[in-house]
Amino acid sequence: NDSARLMLGLDKTPAPGRRIQQLDDYPVLKALLDRCLGESEAAEDMLSIAEQMLKVSVVPLYGEHNKLVIGAIIVMQDFTERMRYEEMRRDFVANASHELKTPIAAIRGFVETILDDPDMPPTTLSQFLTRTRKQVERLNNIVQDLIDLSRFDSGGGGTLVKQPVELNALIQASFEDKADDAVRARIVFSKRLNARPVYVSGDVDGLRQMISNLLDNAIKYSEADGRVEISLELDQDTGGALIRVTDSGMGIPREDQQRIFERFYRVDRARSRDAGGTGLGLSIVKHICQAHDGTVELTSRIDHGSTFTVTLPTLPEHR
Ligand code: ADP
Repeated sequence: NDSARLMLGLDKTPAPGRRIQQLDDYPVLKALLDRCLGESEAAEDMLSIAEQMLKVSVVPLYGEHNKLVIGAIIVMQDFTERMRYEEMRRDFVANASHELKTPIAAIRGFVETILDDPDMPPTTLSQFLTRTRKQVERLNNIVQDLIDLSRFDSGGGGTLVKQPVELNALIQASFEDKADDAVRARIVFSKRLNARPVYVSGDVDGLRQMISNLLDNAIKYSEADGRVEISLELDQDTGGALIRVTDSGMGIPREDQQRIFERFYRVDRARSRDAGGTGLGLSIVKHICQAHDGTVELTSRIDHGSTFTVTLPTLPEHR
Protein backbone atom coordinates (compact mmCIF):
# COMPACT_ATOMS: atom_id res chain seq x y z
CA ASN A 1 0.00 0.00 0.00
CA ASP A 2 0.97 3.67 -0.16
CA SER A 3 2.31 3.83 3.40
CA ALA A 4 4.60 0.85 2.81
CA ARG A 5 5.91 2.37 -0.40
CA LEU A 6 6.59 5.62 1.39
CA MET A 7 8.34 3.88 4.28
CA LEU A 8 10.52 1.85 1.93
CA GLY A 9 11.30 4.86 -0.20
CA LEU A 10 9.65 3.26 -3.24
CA ASP A 11 7.38 6.18 -3.96
CA LYS A 12 9.39 7.15 -7.01
CA THR A 13 9.68 3.70 -8.60
CA PRO A 14 6.19 2.29 -9.11
CA ALA A 15 6.00 -0.72 -6.80
CA PRO A 16 2.63 -2.37 -7.50
CA GLY A 17 3.21 -5.57 -9.38
CA ARG A 18 6.79 -5.97 -8.22
CA ARG A 19 7.54 -8.94 -6.03
CA ILE A 20 9.02 -8.21 -2.66
CA GLN A 21 11.77 -10.70 -3.40
CA GLN A 22 12.83 -8.35 -6.18
CA LEU A 23 13.51 -5.50 -3.77
CA ASP A 24 17.25 -6.00 -3.69
CA ASP A 25 17.85 -3.09 -1.33
CA TYR A 26 16.15 -4.83 1.57
CA PRO A 27 17.83 -8.15 2.34
CA VAL A 28 16.34 -8.09 5.86
CA LEU A 29 12.84 -7.97 4.44
CA LYS A 30 13.58 -10.78 1.99
CA ALA A 31 15.17 -12.96 4.67
CA LEU A 32 12.19 -12.45 6.98
CA LEU A 33 9.76 -13.32 4.23
CA ASP A 34 11.70 -16.42 3.22
CA ARG A 35 11.88 -17.55 6.84
CA CYS A 36 8.18 -16.99 7.40
CA LEU A 37 7.15 -18.80 4.21
CA GLY A 38 9.72 -21.59 4.66
CA GLU A 39 8.98 -22.35 8.29
CA SER A 40 5.32 -21.25 8.38
CA GLU A 41 6.14 -19.16 11.37
CA ALA A 42 5.85 -15.47 12.20
CA ALA A 43 9.14 -13.58 12.06
CA GLU A 44 10.19 -10.14 13.28
CA ASP A 45 13.21 -7.86 12.89
CA MET A 46 14.29 -4.22 12.79
CA LEU A 47 14.97 -2.63 9.42
CA SER A 48 17.02 0.52 9.16
CA ILE A 49 16.38 2.72 6.14
CA ALA A 50 18.25 6.02 5.95
CA GLU A 51 17.29 7.80 9.21
CA GLN A 52 14.30 5.54 9.85
CA MET A 53 13.98 2.49 12.08
CA LEU A 54 11.16 0.15 11.06
CA LYS A 55 9.91 -2.81 13.02
CA VAL A 56 8.93 -5.44 10.49
CA SER A 57 6.65 -8.35 11.43
CA VAL A 58 5.87 -11.04 8.89
CA VAL A 59 2.93 -13.34 9.61
CA PRO A 60 2.00 -16.39 7.55
CA LEU A 61 -1.36 -16.36 5.80
CA TYR A 62 -3.19 -19.71 5.71
CA GLY A 63 -5.62 -20.97 3.08
CA GLU A 64 -9.28 -21.09 4.02
CA HIS A 65 -9.82 -24.85 4.13
CA ASN A 66 -6.43 -26.30 4.75
CA LYS A 67 -3.41 -25.43 6.79
CA LEU A 68 -1.21 -24.56 3.83
CA VAL A 69 0.60 -21.27 3.83
CA ILE A 70 -0.59 -19.31 0.82
CA GLY A 71 1.22 -16.06 1.52
CA ALA A 72 2.28 -13.66 4.21
CA ILE A 73 1.30 -10.31 5.62
CA ILE A 74 4.04 -7.83 6.33
CA VAL A 75 3.36 -5.18 8.94
CA MET A 76 5.84 -2.34 9.25
CA GLN A 77 5.80 0.10 12.14
CA ASP A 78 7.87 3.26 12.24
CA PHE A 79 9.92 2.97 15.45
CA THR A 80 12.22 5.93 14.73
CA GLU A 81 10.69 8.22 17.36
CA ARG A 82 10.44 5.45 19.92
CA MET A 83 14.08 4.46 19.45
CA ARG A 84 15.12 8.09 19.72
CA TYR A 85 13.22 8.45 23.00
CA GLU A 86 14.72 5.23 24.24
CA GLU A 87 18.21 6.54 23.43
CA MET A 88 17.45 9.87 25.12
CA ARG A 89 16.21 8.02 28.19
CA ARG A 90 19.37 5.91 28.35
CA ASP A 91 21.56 9.01 27.93
CA PHE A 92 19.58 10.80 30.60
CA VAL A 93 19.95 7.98 33.14
CA ALA A 94 23.68 7.73 32.36
CA ASN A 95 24.16 11.51 32.72
CA ALA A 96 22.07 11.77 35.88
CA SER A 97 23.94 8.90 37.54
CA HIS A 98 27.26 10.47 36.61
CA GLU A 99 26.19 13.85 38.00
CA LEU A 100 25.07 12.22 41.25
CA LYS A 101 28.16 10.08 41.60
CA THR A 102 30.58 13.01 41.56
CA PRO A 103 29.37 14.67 44.79
CA ILE A 104 28.82 11.29 46.43
CA ALA A 105 32.46 10.34 45.72
CA ALA A 106 33.62 13.67 47.14
CA ILE A 107 31.52 13.28 50.30
CA ARG A 108 32.81 9.76 50.78
CA GLY A 109 36.41 11.01 50.45
CA PHE A 110 35.93 13.78 53.02
CA VAL A 111 34.17 11.52 55.52
CA GLU A 112 36.81 8.80 55.22
CA THR A 113 39.60 11.32 55.71
CA ILE A 114 37.90 12.59 58.86
CA LEU A 115 37.35 9.05 60.19
CA ASP A 116 40.95 8.03 59.43
CA ASP A 117 42.37 10.93 61.44
CA PRO A 118 40.82 11.15 64.91
CA ASP A 119 43.40 13.77 65.93
CA MET A 120 42.61 16.12 63.07
CA PRO A 121 42.95 19.76 64.25
CA PRO A 122 39.55 21.46 64.61
CA THR A 123 40.28 24.01 61.87
CA THR A 124 41.07 21.27 59.33
CA LEU A 125 38.02 19.32 60.46
CA SER A 126 35.88 22.38 60.00
CA GLN A 127 37.27 22.86 56.47
CA PHE A 128 36.42 19.28 55.55
CA LEU A 129 32.90 19.63 56.97
CA THR A 130 32.35 22.86 55.05
CA ARG A 131 33.40 21.14 51.84
CA THR A 132 31.16 18.20 52.67
CA ARG A 133 28.23 20.57 53.17
CA LYS A 134 28.87 22.16 49.78
CA GLN A 135 28.70 18.76 48.11
CA VAL A 136 25.52 17.87 50.01
CA GLU A 137 24.00 21.12 48.74
CA ARG A 138 25.04 20.17 45.24
CA LEU A 139 23.39 16.75 45.60
CA ASN A 140 20.28 18.45 46.89
CA ASN A 141 20.23 20.88 43.91
CA ILE A 142 20.52 18.03 41.42
CA VAL A 143 17.74 16.01 43.06
CA GLN A 144 15.49 19.08 43.34
CA ASP A 145 16.08 19.93 39.66
CA LEU A 146 15.35 16.33 38.67
CA ILE A 147 12.06 16.51 40.58
CA ASP A 148 11.18 19.79 38.84
CA LEU A 149 12.13 18.38 35.47
CA SER A 150 9.86 15.37 35.89
CA ARG A 151 7.07 17.63 37.12
CA PHE A 152 7.26 20.02 34.20
CA ASP A 153 8.31 17.88 31.25
CA SER A 154 5.63 17.05 28.70
CA GLY A 155 4.75 13.76 30.41
CA GLY A 156 4.22 15.48 33.75
CA GLY A 157 2.36 18.44 32.26
CA GLY A 158 -0.87 17.06 33.69
CA THR A 159 0.21 17.98 37.21
CA LEU A 160 0.22 21.72 36.44
CA VAL A 161 -2.54 23.72 38.08
CA LYS A 162 -3.43 26.56 35.73
CA GLN A 163 -5.28 29.69 36.73
CA PRO A 164 -5.21 33.34 35.64
CA VAL A 165 -1.85 34.75 36.73
CA GLU A 166 -0.96 38.46 36.58
CA LEU A 167 2.62 38.69 35.34
CA ASN A 168 3.55 42.16 36.67
CA ALA A 169 2.92 40.92 40.21
CA LEU A 170 4.77 37.67 39.58
CA ILE A 171 7.80 39.47 38.17
CA GLN A 172 7.78 41.98 41.02
CA ALA A 173 7.83 39.09 43.53
CA SER A 174 10.66 37.32 41.66
CA PHE A 175 12.59 40.58 41.50
CA GLU A 176 12.34 40.97 45.28
CA ASP A 177 13.35 37.31 45.78
CA LYS A 178 16.59 37.77 43.86
CA ALA A 179 17.50 41.28 45.02
CA ASP A 180 19.83 40.01 47.77
CA ASP A 181 21.61 37.59 45.41
CA ALA A 182 22.20 40.46 43.01
CA VAL A 183 23.61 42.71 45.75
CA ARG A 184 25.90 39.89 46.91
CA ALA A 185 27.19 39.45 43.34
CA ARG A 186 27.51 43.26 42.99
CA ILE A 187 25.12 43.30 40.06
CA VAL A 188 22.98 46.29 39.14
CA PHE A 189 19.56 44.68 39.03
CA SER A 190 16.53 46.42 37.55
CA LYS A 191 13.00 45.69 36.35
CA ARG A 192 10.65 47.19 33.80
CA LEU A 193 7.01 46.22 34.20
CA ASN A 194 4.10 46.66 31.79
CA ALA A 195 1.92 49.72 32.34
CA ARG A 196 -1.24 47.58 32.33
CA PRO A 197 -1.94 44.19 33.97
CA VAL A 198 -0.96 41.16 31.87
CA TYR A 199 -2.80 37.91 32.50
CA VAL A 200 -1.84 34.43 31.34
CA SER A 201 -3.30 31.06 32.17
CA GLY A 202 -0.51 29.46 34.14
CA ASP A 203 0.83 27.44 37.00
CA VAL A 204 2.14 30.01 39.51
CA ASP A 205 4.90 27.75 40.87
CA GLY A 206 6.01 26.81 37.37
CA LEU A 207 6.13 30.40 36.10
CA ARG A 208 7.95 31.56 39.22
CA GLN A 209 10.46 28.74 38.80
CA MET A 210 11.00 29.67 35.15
CA ILE A 211 11.76 33.32 35.98
CA SER A 212 13.90 32.30 38.94
CA ASN A 213 16.07 30.01 36.80
CA LEU A 214 16.61 32.72 34.18
CA LEU A 215 17.49 35.33 36.82
CA ASP A 216 19.82 32.91 38.64
CA ASN A 217 21.71 32.33 35.40
CA ALA A 218 21.84 36.02 34.49
CA ILE A 219 23.40 36.77 37.89
CA LYS A 220 25.62 33.65 37.90
CA TYR A 221 27.15 34.24 34.50
CA SER A 222 27.85 37.96 34.95
CA GLU A 223 30.86 39.63 36.51
CA ALA A 224 30.73 42.11 39.39
CA ASP A 225 29.36 45.51 38.30
CA GLY A 226 27.39 43.82 35.52
CA ARG A 227 23.77 44.64 34.79
CA VAL A 228 20.72 42.36 34.85
CA GLU A 229 17.26 43.49 33.85
CA ILE A 230 13.90 41.76 33.76
CA SER A 231 11.12 43.30 31.72
CA LEU A 232 7.54 42.59 30.75
CA GLU A 233 5.75 43.94 27.72
CA LEU A 234 3.11 42.94 25.21
CA ASP A 235 3.99 41.86 21.69
CA GLN A 236 2.50 44.57 19.44
CA ASP A 237 1.53 42.05 16.76
CA THR A 238 0.30 39.00 18.64
CA GLY A 239 -0.72 40.49 21.99
CA GLY A 240 1.40 37.79 23.68
CA ALA A 241 3.36 38.48 26.85
CA LEU A 242 7.11 38.99 26.41
CA ILE A 243 9.25 38.37 29.47
CA ARG A 244 12.88 39.32 28.87
CA VAL A 245 15.85 38.64 31.09
CA THR A 246 18.90 40.54 29.87
CA ASP A 247 22.39 40.43 31.30
CA SER A 248 25.68 42.08 30.41
CA GLY A 249 27.61 38.91 31.25
CA MET A 250 29.93 36.52 29.48
CA GLY A 251 27.54 35.59 26.64
CA ILE A 252 27.07 32.20 24.99
CA PRO A 253 29.03 31.01 21.93
CA ARG A 254 26.89 30.66 18.83
CA GLU A 255 27.59 26.94 18.50
CA ASP A 256 26.26 26.29 22.02
CA GLN A 257 23.15 28.43 21.79
CA GLN A 258 20.81 25.63 20.68
CA ARG A 259 22.30 23.03 22.97
CA ILE A 260 22.12 24.87 26.31
CA PHE A 261 18.45 23.91 26.59
CA GLU A 262 19.42 20.22 26.63
CA ARG A 263 19.60 18.40 29.93
CA PHE A 264 23.01 18.64 31.60
CA TYR A 265 24.53 20.67 28.77
CA ARG A 266 26.90 23.41 29.96
CA VAL A 267 29.24 25.66 28.07
CA ASP A 268 31.76 25.80 30.90
CA ARG A 269 31.36 22.85 33.22
CA ALA A 270 33.69 24.12 35.93
CA ARG A 271 32.12 27.56 36.10
CA SER A 272 28.60 26.13 36.26
CA ARG A 273 29.61 23.71 39.00
CA ASP A 274 31.41 26.37 41.05
CA ALA A 275 28.29 28.51 40.88
CA GLY A 276 26.16 25.59 42.14
CA GLY A 277 24.71 24.83 38.68
CA THR A 278 23.32 21.46 37.67
CA GLY A 279 22.97 21.92 33.89
CA LEU A 280 19.21 21.38 34.24
CA GLY A 281 17.94 24.93 34.79
CA LEU A 282 17.31 25.89 31.17
CA SER A 283 15.88 22.53 30.31
CA ILE A 284 13.32 23.10 33.10
CA VAL A 285 12.66 26.59 31.66
CA LYS A 286 12.01 25.11 28.23
CA HIS A 287 9.59 22.51 29.59
CA ILE A 288 7.67 25.09 31.64
CA CYS A 289 7.36 27.31 28.54
CA GLN A 290 6.11 24.42 26.45
CA ALA A 291 3.59 23.43 29.14
CA HIS A 292 2.21 26.99 28.80
CA ASP A 293 2.12 26.90 24.97
CA GLY A 294 4.95 29.42 24.98
CA THR A 295 8.46 29.63 23.57
CA VAL A 296 11.86 30.67 24.82
CA GLU A 297 14.45 32.33 22.61
CA LEU A 298 17.98 33.46 23.11
CA THR A 299 20.14 36.17 21.61
CA SER A 300 23.67 36.42 22.88
CA ARG A 301 27.09 37.83 22.07
CA ILE A 302 30.30 36.71 23.67
CA ASP A 303 31.50 39.22 26.28
CA HIS A 304 28.46 41.44 25.68
CA GLY A 305 25.72 39.44 27.36
CA SER A 306 22.58 37.46 26.72
CA THR A 307 18.85 38.03 26.45
CA PHE A 308 16.38 35.24 27.06
CA THR A 309 12.89 36.05 25.80
CA VAL A 310 9.90 34.02 26.93
CA THR A 311 6.71 34.48 24.94
CA LEU A 312 3.43 33.37 26.49
CA PRO A 313 -0.11 33.58 25.12
CA THR A 314 -2.19 36.04 27.17
CA LEU A 315 -5.78 35.52 28.25
CA PRO A 316 -8.02 37.16 25.60
CA GLU A 317 -10.46 38.64 28.10
CA HIS A 318 -7.59 40.47 29.79
CA ARG A 319 -5.91 41.85 26.67
P1 ADP B 1 23.49 25.53 34.95
O1 ADP B 1 22.96 24.90 36.18
O2 ADP B 1 24.81 24.97 34.51
O3 ADP B 1 23.47 27.03 35.01
P2 ADP B 1 21.44 25.77 32.89
O4 ADP B 1 20.64 24.71 32.22
O5 ADP B 1 20.69 26.81 33.66
O6 ADP B 1 22.49 25.03 33.80
O7 ADP B 1 22.32 26.49 31.79
C1 ADP B 1 23.09 25.70 30.90
C2 ADP B 1 24.36 26.42 30.51
O8 ADP B 1 24.04 27.55 29.70
C3 ADP B 1 25.15 26.98 31.67
O9 ADP B 1 26.02 26.01 32.21
C4 ADP B 1 25.92 28.12 31.01
O10 ADP B 1 27.06 27.59 30.35
C5 ADP B 1 24.95 28.60 29.92
N1 ADP B 1 24.18 29.79 30.37
C6 ADP B 1 22.91 29.81 30.83
N2 ADP B 1 22.49 31.06 31.06
C7 ADP B 1 23.51 31.87 30.74
C8 ADP B 1 23.72 33.31 30.76
N3 ADP B 1 22.75 34.15 31.16
N4 ADP B 1 24.93 33.77 30.34
C9 ADP B 1 25.91 32.94 29.92
N5 ADP B 1 25.78 31.58 29.88
C10 ADP B 1 24.60 31.06 30.29
